[in-house]
Amino acid sequence: MSDTNPSTPRVLLVDDDRSIQRLIAAFLAPLGLDLKIANCGAEALSMLRRQRPDLILLDHEMPGESGLEVLTRIREAPELHDVPVIFVTGSTSGDVISQCFERGANDYIQKPLRRPELIARVRSVLERQQMLGSLWRAARLDGLTGLPNRLLMQETLSASLEHVRQNEDHRFAVLFLDFDRFKLVNDSLGHDVGDMLLREISQRLRENLRTSDAISRDGAGTTLSRIGGDEFVVLLDDIADLAAAEAVAQRLLGVLNEPYQIGKHTISSTASIGVVCSHSGYTAADEMLRDADIAMYEAKNRGKGCFVTFDPAMQQAVIERHEIERDLRCAVGTDQIHLAYQPIFSLEDGTVHGVEALARWDHPTKGSIQPDVFIPIAEETQLIVPLGELILDEACRQLSEWLASGHDSIEYISVNVSRAQLKSTDFARQVVGVVRRHGLQTRQLQLEVTESMIMERPDAAVELLDELRAAGVRLAMDDFGTGYSSLSCLHRFPFDVIKIDRSFVSKLNTERTEFVSLIHAIVNLAYNLGMECVAEGVESREQIAVLLTVDCMLGQGYLLGEPARANSALMDKWRQGLAEKAMLCA
Ligand code: C2E
Ligand code: MG
Ligand code: MG
Repeated sequence: MSDTNPSTPRVLLVDDDRSIQRLIAAFLAPLGLDLKIANCGAEALSMLRRQRPDLILLDHEMPGESGLEVLTRIREAPELHDVPVIFVTGSTSGDVISQCFERGANDYIQKPLRRPELIARVRSVLERQQMLGSLWRAARLDGLTGLPNRLLMQETLSASLEHVRQNEDHRFAVLFLDFDRFKLVNDSLGHDVGDMLLREISQRLRENLRTSDAISRDGAGTTLSRIGGDEFVVLLDDIADLAAAEAVAQRLLGVLNEPYQIGKHTISSTASIGVVCSHSGYTAADEMLRDADIAMYEAKNRGKGCFVTFDPAMQQAVIERHEIERDLRCAVGTDQIHLAYQPIFSLEDGTVHGVEALARWDHPTKGSIQPDVFIPIAEETQLIVPLGELILDEACRQLSEWLASGHDSIEYISVNVSRAQLKSTDFARQVVGVVRRHGLQTRQLQLEVTESMIMERPDAAVELLDELRAAGVRLAMDDFGTGYSSLSCLHRFPFDVIKIDRSFVSKLNTERTEFVSLIHAIVNLAYNLGMECVAEGVESREQIAVLLTVDCMLGQGYLLGEPARANSALMDKWRQGLAEKAMLCA
């Protein structure tokens, strides 16, 4: 059968009578079928175990097992239960015919055989079968790559899990692959390029995995599927151990990391892979896919371009994240989320120059949750849009309250901006609206952005920052020095202030002269470009002394004032604290 065209229908004729065999072969010749013959039930069953036909013509009366007995055994075999069977009988008894249908025959034909009737019945069953096959493929194959889709992968995985239940020593593994920069390709080069890239990825995977043809449902081996966007799943059936699966994951990383030539575009990216093994007591395909997916996310968290094997502790982290996400939805707009304020001081004379607003979340059961944890979740879920508006509004309200109560040395309130806010086309207009509503000047608001945020879409960022700057809003580059292009950013974007990251300030002491020189160079550069400099994370008097020697005049940090909730005494407390400690090296 192997050298015939795979689309030629395969028919198995089971009959002990040679003259009937010849007659049927002659009658069916015009249909061009791939016809195989078994002389008895036992031979038929052994042939069926090797290959599944599209149709069985089964004789009623045979030596050994009767046709009805063979039919029963066919219907009992899970892999054969749906192969169509036409029963061939010389009997005209109604009992025989009803029995053959009861046991699962799809049709029957009576001897003596007549050519037109045989052809018509065989054709009709095969056509119906073909239609079912098309439906099956449409539901289970991915149109873009021709690979099995999620449904077929789930079915194959379920069959493998069943195999494990019957045979404890059987092992298999699931690899969950995700291309690390697919969204960027789709967004920047268009969906056609994205589609071509997916075909290329699937081609590379096919070539590098000895995949079994999951479509013919022929059983064990490796099954590759595309289960969504840029997510591919590989099922490695019958592996020796976890190390074997990890070796495949490592090999695939290498294969996928080679640059892709798509038309005139050269695309470079890595992939992240999650690995999970069958011996962890799984009962459902979805559980395994979920854990492989979790491990894949962990691989992304660990810097992408690597594989990670699932560990139950990862699941706990995911559950917690879901809880935070769920609770955050309820917390936005309540007093669970509020602002803490941290002063930005003049290191020379101790006056409060500006104040940074920092979001805080007092979770009713988990206690205080840090912005580093909940802001990224708010961004992913788009909750940052309403949250960011509330923060901006509250920060402006607080400044106008301070100004009204006589604390007029505060030049501005500084608010951190998130990625999602930068993408909003209407952002500049909204900001100006909020400022005016609280009776402030735009110069009294400072927005802090980080380099990584603006470098994601630098052209759009330049436009937005220019617009904000033109409206009079102050702009600060937060965490300066932690990215890759901090220096070029300074030239390209209209900043008023740079905030030197805590990681540099923490290394400032008189013995580490290389850091002193580095900060000195940054400060000089900022002044040459007409910008102010703030040192973040000032924690010691020694740091203040060194900062003043390199002309950095502004600072923020726990030594000078920890973030705190606003109250009527806060400003005085800040000033007094500085005076009492007499820490400024005037
Ligand atoms: P950031 O904007 O760089 O804020 C400074 C962070 O350093 C704050 O952490 C502050 O509490 C901390 N800090 C200040 N002085 C010291 C010091 O002397 N030593 C040390 N070790 N840390 C100091 P926090 O409040 O946990 O905020 C972390 C980050 O979360 C912020 O970094 C900012 O990127 C983000 N974030 C905070 N609030 C908001 C917000 O309202 N909106 C947005 N989009 N992001 C926010
Ligand atoms: Mg900040
Ligand atoms: Mg910062």
